[in-house]
Amino acid sequence: MTTQTKEKPDTCEEIRHPIEKLLRMDRIPHIWCPGCGIGIVVNALGQAIADLQLDPKKIAIVSGIGCTGRVAGYVNLDSFHTTHGRAIPFATGLKLANPELTVIVVSGDGDLLAIGGNHFIHAARRNVDINVICVNNLIYGMTGGQVSPTTPVKGISSTTPYGSFEPPFNLPYLAMSSGAVYVTRYTALHVRRLKKSIRKSLSRKGFCFMEVVSPCPTVYSRRNRLGTGLDMMRYYHDNSIIKHGANPEEADISLGSKIIVGKFREVDKPTFTDMVESNLRHSVGKDEKAPKIDVSHSLNNKPRLKKKR
Ligand code: SF4
Repeated sequence: MTTQTKEKPDTCEEIRHPIEKLLRMDRIPHIWCPGCGIGIVVNALGQAIADLQLDPKKIAIVSGIGCTGRVAGYVNLDSFHTTHGRAIPFATGLKLANPELTVIVVSGDGDLLAIGGNHFIHAARRNVDINVICVNNLIYGMTGGQVSPTTPVKGISSTTPYGSFEPPFNLPYLAMSSGAVYVTRYTALHVRRLKKSIRKSLSRKGFCFMEVVSPCPTVYSRRNRLGTGLDMMRYYHDNSIIKHGANPEEADISLGSKIIVGKFREVDKPTFTDMVESNLRHSVGKDEKAPKIDVSHSLNNKPRLKKKR
């Protein structure tokens, strides 16, 4: 009897990463630490885009500053690495200028919710049609290990060496109360659920917010003696509770607590682009003296202002 052995590829070139086409391979290796969860989020995002067979030329990705801010540099899409806290206003401008674009923001908790906090709540309030993924590692990683708006009470950081005493933001609750139409939270362990959530977000309209609780072994876990990235994955495994439709008010994250994950909200509301369009039609269209504005740009992406003769 002969046994058939599977031929192994001779060179590394024959082994391809499944989302290689969506990565800027010339930038690899990346800068993220071993055990960091950011790469898992990039992989889930890439797989969601590949599953939906979206045209990469019609997707733009925007990120801010910090470890997660580097995502835009590694993804082979039209990418913008903006200044600290400005990912959402930049993404809002992109969407308004070209409504046909799928616009994705990937950024960290410090960037999105501290420096960019005002932009976050107002984009959610206006229901700007963008997809926001927040990699929440509970601290500022790259920029110095300072306390962030999501650091739990008693969490150690470089600026709270005796433990934070500030109540942290509960991100799904903040997003939902500000007006986000699609709100989920998963951890870096919930790869398939995260991918499904990103697919859903990319397929629907409105301000979609996805929180991903993610390990930062180098800064947060080291300072708080929580072990390696693998230890954090075990923690997520043992302490996550999947509860779709949960009241986000009850989904606080504190040190050592259970983490409620799942889909908190999915509703439909007119987007900011819809409202801009209908407002122009309603207010300008009725005024005989007003310049006639061709609002069809939202359909064919050719903005024009025609003067009335
Ligand atoms: Fe990831 Fe933390 Fe390292 Fe930044 S410092 S790459 S968040 S593990």
